[in-house]
Amino acid sequence: MTTNNSLRVSMLGLGAMGSALGAALVRAGHPTTVWNRSAGKADDLVAQGAQAAATAGDAVRASRLVIVCLLDHASVHDVLDPLTDELAGRTLINVTTTSPEQSRELAAWAADAGVAYLDGGIMAIPPMIGQPGSSILYSGSADVFDQYKPLLDLWGDSTYFGADAGLASLYDLALLAGMYVMFVGFVHGAAMVAPAGMTAGEFAAMAAPWQSAMTGAFQGLAAVIDGGDYTVDGQQSLEFSDVALGGILDASADQGVSTEVLAMVQRLMRRQIDAGHGKEGFARIVESIRQPR
Ligand code: NDP
Repeated sequence: MTTNNSLRVSMLGLGAMGSALGAALVRAGHPTTVWNRSAGKADDLVAQGAQAAATAGDAVRASRLVIVCLLDHASVHDVLDPLTDELAGRTLINVTTTSPEQSRELAAWAADAGVAYLDGGIMAIPPMIGQPGSSILYSGSADVFDQYKPLLDLWGDSTYFGADAGLASLYDLALLAGMYVMFVGFVHGAAMVAPAGMTAGEFAAMAAPWQSAMTGAFQGLAAVIDGGDYTVDGQQSLEFSDVALGGILDASADQGVSTEVLAMVQRLMRRQIDAGHGKEGFARIVESIRQPR
């Protein structure tokens, strides 16, 4: 395991996230070589002590450990495909957001090129890097994770999920799926109360503690989903939830706002009710999601 802060690192991609990751490495004392496609983005890091490479190839040649934080899967191939010879025998940690299949494709590409590969999914925004609450999910080479964990921990909590390089991305995107629906739910509520004179900021002050408290229900839902028995006592039935949701839909329409967000929830519930499961618990909507129409 590396605890040596003199470990040389190369960082490819200095957008908002790549710059935050690079700054954490420089702060910790790692000799850091940085490269970005467009000029100018390395200046701040160079002022902090990083070395700028003129080309991606120069950056790769500078270090055994190469970290990539680019826009997407295509940009990773754009930058790395011409450098397979230089990368051979080195270690590549890719924290660019990619789909699970894209991460697996990159892992196979790296294996063919003789490159040790670890894939990462960043659960943070740039100002959170190196701060409490930042976490990064990893999968791919266990050896790479074990060797570089102290360095990875500079960015946030590091968790390894297994040799399948697609897992970090899968878990990352599953968490983001929940985040997007939560944000849409909040924005819907803010739109509902706006005609009554409440600002979105005032509504946020009410909604944040409410939604946080509701996350306490996740484990109860999870127990029913994992158990696979949607008839267990103590759950709110789909029929009950359908009536409650109908009231929210009506109130939304009365406020003159779109009912699209809630209609999506209603559709998931109604498919189970129509199939004869109305007396069963709300958790049964997972069957609507597992079996796309
Ligand atoms: P930015 O848009 O700020 O930066 C994108 C980077 O990719 C730039 O360095 C850009 O170079 C480079 N790039 C894009 N296309 C190419 C290409 N074809 N060839 C070479 N370089 C290219 O994005 P972020 O830094 O915010 O995000 C980077 C990754 O981190 C993304 O995958 C993102 O999903 C992930 N991430 C970001 C988070 C965030 O909150 N920002 C949160 C979690 C993950 P140039 O400067 O020349 O345009």
